[in-house]
Amino acid sequence: MARTGKPREGCEGFRRPASRFPGRSGRRRAIALGAVHLLIGLHLLHWVVTGTTLSPVEPSESMYTLENGQVNAGFIFFIVAILSTALLGRWFCGWACHMVALQDLCGWMMRKIGIRPQPFRSRLLGWVPFLLAFYMFLWPTLKRWSLPWFEGQFATVASWIDPVRPWVGFTDHLMVADFWATFPSWWIAIPFFLVCGFATVYLLGSKGFCSYGCPYGAFFSVADRISPMAIVANMDACESCGLCTANCTSNVQISREIKIHSQVVDPGCMKCLDCVDVCPNGVLSFGRGAWNPLAKAIAPTRNTHLSLQGEVSLAILCALIWFSWRGVYAQIPMLMATGIAISVSFLIWKSLQLLRLEDVSLQGQQLRRTGAITTPGLILLAITISSILLTLSAGHTRWNEVQADRHFNEAQVNLDQVLIPGQPPISPQLMESAALAVQHLQRCRHFSRGGFALLEPPGTILEEKLGYMSAVSGDLIGASSWWGLALEEKSSDDLLVRYGQLVELQEGPQALARWLDSQRERLGNRLTLVNLRGDLARRQALSAFQGGQAEAAARHLQALIGWIGEEPELLRNIADLLDQAGISEEATSFRQRAQLSEQNSAPPAGTTDRR
Ligand code: SF4
Ligand code: SF4
Repeated sequence: MARTGKPREGCEGFRRPASRFPGRSGRRRAIALGAVHLLIGLHLLHWVVTGTTLSPVEPSESMYTLENGQVNAGFIFFIVAILSTALLGRWFCGWACHMVALQDLCGWMMRKIGIRPQPFRSRLLGWVPFLLAFYMFLWPTLKRWSLPWFEGQFATVASWIDPVRPWVGFTDHLMVADFWATFPSWWIAIPFFLVCGFATVYLLGSKGFCSYGCPYGAFFSVADRISPMAIVANMDACESCGLCTANCTSNVQISREIKIHSQVVDPGCMKCLDCVDVCPNGVLSFGRGAWNPLAKAIAPTRNTHLSLQGEVSLAILCALIWFSWRGVYAQIPMLMATGIAISVSFLIWKSLQLLRLEDVSLQGQQLRRTGAITTPGLILLAITISSILLTLSAGHTRWNEVQADRHFNEAQVNLDQVLIPGQPPISPQLMESAALAVQHLQRCRHFSRGGFALLEPPGTILEEKLGYMSAVSGDLIGASSWWGLALEEKSSDDLLVRYGQLVELQEGPQALARWLDSQRERLGNRLTLVNLRGDLARRQALSAFQGGQAEAAARHLQALIGWIGEEPELLRNIADLLDQAGISEEATSFRQRAQLSEQNSAPPAGTTDRR
């Protein structure tokens, strides 16, 4: 380990050398985190090869257990991790968390090029992980209990809350086939790692995401407080050199805490053991400490970078940015929205400093020197303006998504009521809500396709919803156009049935028959298409028969032969109808074909089971 001279006694500002080589624990931790990623890779491989595997071992999966009762591997893992923290301290974060691995990697790469990320300190933003933990793990249960009361007392407020799914008890979701269902697409994963790794580390410090964005950390820090195990100190040998504090990437004020408690009490300590390695006098070790869950951790000397007004403004800004990005385009996961919110809030705060103060720097880079904005300062301003524009666009789309969902939920009806003749009419209120849903959904389309959004939800979610709401609002031409677009990309059974019903309603049964023929050419003999064609032929035949047109009825059934082949019962029905129409010769021919078909489908003589 390189030392650059002994700092003042208790010097918390002493910086670690940029070229610092990881100590023994650092190397062991790198191996442990590498092994975690290897296990993740093997888990994925198992899914790809076998098609079914253990559900994701990811704490965020616990949300589905608490909200829907789906007991999965992530929930069990999270419980075990919390219990182990309560027993042995916060080892999980430092030795097994892939987000810590990512931040450590980013921090290490930055130190290689001479950047030493210094922590940004904000009191209010420090509550973000607790708020997220509440939202993820407590809110689903609280919502289930409180929503009926809200609906009774404050119907308008209740309409803004997502509907609660009925509780069906706990169900087994340990093994899954759709392993990736709860993860974002790969092209969201890359910006996720850039934002939650590089951006948060560079802007907010080595453990920027852990400090301000990790909801699981809230649980681990509470569990760590009750653990009897800690980094303990033999104070007789301590010279208060401050090296331990300077090397702690979790910003624990080690040398000051051990002076008071003879151990580290800050629940932010991730037991990485860097301080144990770096102490020249072997003062520190991991062991049993004095049990004091209420011991007050020592705050860094410079408690916060912000005034109270600044803290409040930044917190409000962060919340607005978070709501703008959370779930937008049906793509952005909550943790990524959090990473974006804290990073963009910081950028705005720094840019305001840049515009107001004479001298401003960031991570050793001078952004403004004696009143003149430097090139790095201009780059930071450009990044901030771009981030604000992107956030405004995301916020606009998110607002429209929320409004669209609200009207969509109000206007939901069984589509049979719209697409099958003779059903009771849709109420004008529902039609109005559906029309409003269409307006908002159209704004959520990509700007190149007539909307305002930068991205669209994956697949055909938007087109299908637009078709549904257009149909409910009475705009059948619109519905046909949206569902037609959706069908070009995805031909789900439900979509085929609904589009078929729409074709028949608008253009009649002949048009439906032609459309079904075209779909069969495109998709082959799909069971849904065959069923639709069979249903159409039977309805047409019945209608013709009831109108006294036996031959027409026979011809409608005859059209089915091309779809289902020489089916004996069908051929006999056709023969009966032709007989009634007085076309006996052809009727006889159909009966012979029925007989032949039966003989061909009968098992060969001698293969009958005689046991
Ligand atoms: S514990 Fe070791 S590194 Fe920390 S202040 Fe004391 S002597 Fe220095
Ligand atoms: S106090 Fe020591 S063990 Fe804890 S996070 Fe800091 S360097 Fe690691």
